[in-house]
Amino acid sequence: MLDLAIIGGGPAGLTAGLYATRGGLNNVTMFEMGMPGGQITTSSEIENYPGQKEVVTGMALMEDWPEQCKRFGLKHEMNQVMSVTKKDEVFTLTTADGKTQEAKTVLLATGSVPRRAGFKGEDKLFGRGVSTCATCDGFFYKGKEVAVIGGGDTALEEAVYLSKMCSKVYLVHRRDTYRAAPSTIEHMKNADNIEEVTNCDIEEVYGDNMGVTGLKVKSKISGDIRDIPVPGVFVFVGRDVLNDSLKQEDGSFLCETNKAGEIVVDLRMRTNVAGLYAAGDVRIEASKQVVCAAGDGATAAVNIIEYIG
Ligand code: FAD
Ligand code: NAP
Repeated sequence: MLDLAIIGGGPAGLTAGLYATRGGLNNVTMFEMGMPGGQITTSSEIENYPGQKEVVTGMALMEDWPEQCKRFGLKHEMNQVMSVTKKDEVFTLTTADGKTQEAKTVLLATGSVPRRAGFKGEDKLFGRGVSTCATCDGFFYKGKEVAVIGGGDTALEEAVYLSKMCSKVYLVHRRDTYRAAPSTIEHMKNADNIEEVTNCDIEEVYGDNMGVTGLKVKSKISGDIRDIPVPGVFVFVGRDVLNDSLKQEDGSFLCETNKAGEIVVDLRMRTNVAGLYAAGDVRIEASKQVVCAAGDGATAAVNIIEYIG
């Protein structure tokens, strides 16, 4: 039986793995369905991780984290955890290959996935011009015009990134004020090939057999429809937490969640189920920052070590 099963290998899961193994737990496995590193690996740049004075890509920032954990004995299983149940003080995890694994404690560090905006054509053209990852797909639009949808940190940062390789970026936002940090707004305003298309809803993204050919936006002020002919549309309208693995057969969750599905934890990252912890973006009131997710992971591990005793 595992001392600790960590679900998710982003900053929260990896840091928990580091602290748990270095803190003396011998039998710790981190289940990560993709490459360890988490969602920050899709970011073109990060400039606010303490101690990292150069601006680096998310991929570069996370490169060494798994190696550091391995040094202290963290095991990594590349697998998706489909369900977690608890009976007689023992957790059972079922993975995508149908296998099960028992654990004394579980840390949910599954983060979140990009949200769909819900406009016409989004699902149909997803992967054929509609994208949620500029670092993955931006290169396809080198020298071309693209649209970015959203007004948060992700939309503005990725609009700036795309502006460096694309001939023009239309930044389409439903309001005329942004949620992004002031410095990010300034970067965006300083890019002379970003056109702000504000107070606009997306009517539809349209295309042909080859993929996206444009989008239509409707002004909330005049009601006018504007056609923007672009082959690429990047959607950054927030993220939804990944909590499916805690769903029980009767549809309830193994532990308490809020309306948005975020896991309710206390300051020790404990849920209301003994031995079950949550850390990072998946928990309530997460600051949604790499440094905060890492801090949560460390906090959870320290408390898990104490719980196991
Ligand atoms: P995640 O990073 O989401 O990691 C969760 C991991 O769990 C993923 O690897 C996923 O594959 C895995 N997983 C999920 N479900 C399962 C399952 N059932 N079984 C197995 N594995 C599973 N933060 C900053 O501080 N500075 C920035 O500049 C910054 N820029 C960003 C730019 C972009 C484009 C994005 C998307 C985010 C950015 N963030 C930034 C936010 C930051 O990336 C997150 O706050 C942080 O990654 C959260 O870490 P986490 O470990 O909680 O979750
Ligand atoms: P976010 O902050 O939730 O912003 C989402 C944006 O999309 C908002 O501007 C929102 O508009 C818009 N939106 C939402 N639903 C929409 C819809 N259906 N159609 C059109 N527009 C829609 O999401 P995020 O930018 O992905 O950031 C998520 C979290 O990660 C935040 O806490 C952020 O600070 C953090 N993050 C931090 C950094 C960094 O530190 N550098 C970088 C990236 C992300 P409204 O504004 O009108 O609601």
